Amino acid sequence: MQPTGGGRLHLGNLEGALRPWIQRQDDYEMFCMIADWHSLTTIAEKRVNLAEASRQTAIDYLSAGLDPDKCAIFRQSDVPEHAELHLLLSMVTPVGWLERVPTYKEKRDLIKENDTQVSYGLLGYPVLQTADIILYRAHAVPVGRDQAAHIEISREIARRFNRLVEAEIFPEPEAVINEFSGEVPGMDGRKMSKSYDNAIYLSDTPKQTQKKVNSAFTTPTKIHATDPGIPEGCVACQLRRVYDPAHFLTQWEECRAGQRGCGQSKKELAEIINTTLEPIRARRAQLEADPPAVESVLRQGAEKARAAASETMTLVRRAMQIR
Ligand code: AMP
Repeated sequence: MQPTGGGRLHLGNLEGALRPWIQRQDDYEMFCMIADWHSLTTIAEKRVNLAEASRQTAIDYLSAGLDPDKCAIFRQSDVPEHAELHLLLSMVTPVGWLERVPTYKEKRDLIKENDTQVSYGLLGYPVLQTADIILYRAHAVPVGRDQAAHIEISREIARRFNRLVEAEIFPEPEAVINEFSGEVPGMDGRKMSKSYDNAIYLSDTPKQTQKKVNSAFTTPTKIHATDPGIPEGCVACQLRRVYDPAHFLTQWEECRAGQRGCGQSKKELAEIINTTLEPIRARRAQLEADPPAVESVLRQGAEKARAAASETMTLVRRAMQIR
């Protein structure tokens, strides 16, 4: 994940990415990266404290339950092999492939509307992402359904590289779709996202969480508790489904039948989310108070990652007859 916007992760990141990683850490050799260089493809012109943002992301990874003894938790910029492989892959990647990537086209158009320049790094984003994956000769990448397409270009670049050097250096990475591949809605009903200012962060206090939940979009025509609600279009009801899977149907039926008001639903939802976040917040507070512990995790993770990365780069340099 990228440490954009201060590096703090929200409920969408937790359910859509972090939890699926945590569920896999016992069964797979896993590399969990903080993609600090990646976040520069869109924010290079703004001055941000990327080091602090990465630290916050690391704290969220650890607080949510990623275990540094089971997986490598590291910062991309601590492993310079990512940059070297990115450079070498950029030599074999046709520009046309990159220009056709839908997310590139969207971002490019947005940037042009704002009259700024599209950076070379933005175009090359999928090449760096490919380097991130295949540097570990990864067989699988856990992603949400919406991201499966991103892995396709990595497969193509890996295949093309192997063909050009006439060696099977890289396995073609497979997208493993996360069990929870829905979308966590933000308070305004759009996808929960840092850029929409509609997110509940793992680092929010119980009070902040309650306040955000109170602002959630509900059924506009449900003014009195007795008015019928439409759970399918209500943020509070959708979040209830995510955080209270055993009981949400009862709440939905009561809402639909006008047997409960939005105020009650929001109050209960905030309590449920706060209960879920409680242990995460407790670990966060401990880690916040102990910066050397976080640094040490990142150092240990970078060592693990570099060991694997340098092995791959030896193969790559040899295959390309650089060494
Ligand atoms: P992003 O910061 O948007 O690049 O997202 C990082 C990770 O979190 C990706 O794996 C996303 O699929 C996941 N993610 C982000 N927002 C949401 C959301 N609202 N619902 C579910 N997953 C999300």
